[in-house]
Amino acid sequence: MKRVFELGEDFAKRLDLEDPLKEIKNRFYIKEDEIYMDGNSLGLMSKDAEKTLMRVVEEWKNLGINGWMNAEMPWFYYPEELGKLQAPLVGAEEDEVIIHSSTTVNLHSLVSTFFKPKGKRNKILMDSLTFPSDRYAIEGQLKLKDLDPREHLVVIESKDGKTLDEREIVGRMDDDIALVLLPSVLYRSGQLLDIEYLTGQAHKRGIIIGFDCCHSVGAVPHYFSKWGVDFAFWCNYKYCNNGPGGTASIYVNKKHFHKEPVLAGWYGYIKEKQFDMSYEFQSAENAGAWQIGTSHMLSMAPLEGSLKMFNEIGIEKIREKSLKITDYLMYLIDNELSQYGFIIGNPREDHRRGGHVALEHEEAVRINEAMKDRGIVPDFRNPNVIRLAPVALYISYHDVWKVVSIIKDIMENEVYKNYSKKRGVVA
Ligand SMILES: *Cc1c(COP(=O)(O)O)cnc(C)c1O
Repeated sequence: MKRVFELGEDFAKRLDLEDPLKEIKNRFYIKEDEIYMDGNSLGLMSKDAEKTLMRVVEEWKNLGINGWMNAEMPWFYYPEELGKLQAPLVGAEEDEVIIHSSTTVNLHSLVSTFFKPKGKRNKILMDSLTFPSDRYAIEGQLKLKDLDPREHLVVIESKDGKTLDEREIVGRMDDDIALVLLPSVLYRSGQLLDIEYLTGQAHKRGIIIGFDCCHSVGAVPHYFSKWGVDFAFWCNYKYCNNGPGGTASIYVNKKHFHKEPVLAGWYGYIKEKQFDMSYEFQSAENAGAWQIGTSHMLSMAPLEGSLKMFNEIGIEKIREKSLKITDYLMYLIDNELSQYGFIIGNPREDHRRGGHVALEHEEAVRINEAMKDRGIVPDFRNPNVIRLAPVALYISYHDVWKVVSIIKDIMENEVYKNYSKKRGVVA
């Protein structure tokens, strides 16, 4: 979509006045002297999330063990109830989403169910730009089945080191591939893959396909059921604002509900019978079957308030603002910063990008440090990317305008030269 912007500060303020989501930022804890552009790594705390977290803390205080059945939203059913609340964000049916564990653990659990090497069809297809944890986990899954990753892991390379070509991925979906695992949005460049197309092509060839959606859920709407995606998983501490290390999510298409959760545990049991304590495992007939152990109540409670906020606004509206504000950021970069050697590393088209802009510069490490001292919270990704996420719920157009003018000042006055080239441990 072609949007028309202007450069001045007044124009930024006008965009804010017209922004239908402008009031939402008042529900977040935002510091006056800081512009938080890192919601793609750790989302900010909302008062809504704080309220549900504190309610569960109080319930623990007052109810003890009885919280499992007598809390306002009984803890025993909490992962299922929050799954229902999250389903609209990913276009899933209510019982296809469950809140459980962490992203990488969920990957292990899902892949151990969905990777069934048979005869010649015994390889996993991934990409060379995926999040490293996914690569480690997939290699581990192959080793568990005594398969050598050098032979059984097929990795699609990137031509430009930033993006992937979907047709090339499909071109390698041969009859030796049992499973494809891809990210929805690439964590560094912000490229959004065509999930519907990839899913259709995998299925045409009899291949199971799953997606790591850490960098999209809460920013980009998905339609997993309609597209027929087999499984997906994501963390909730990024765009979903569930707090540091907050409990993650699993999506399993209902056509797979009969499949065995191989990394089984008692929380995957049919709920009504879980406390029969039988040794014969009977798995729940929904995504809950992939739960392993007791729900992490305190790491999940902020998500209740947060998801209610998402549903009140609607993920489509959030995406609309996210696309417009990232487009505005790119417009300002093109006009104000390209003269200093900055390059935009993410794809430009709306349907090919997620919620952040990948700003590239050979001095990214030092510029990133200088930005921090000027009240911006960006994040740096090796070797040369500054990721800037103007999160729709709590970043204004005026914030974006200020970020670009601060970067411009850092470049114009060569402020970054006062900083060390060494990156921090968490970056
Ligand atoms: C953030 C992120 C993860 C993190 O995994 P955890 O198990 O939550 O630490 C995994 N994959 C992607 C693509 C991510 O962006």
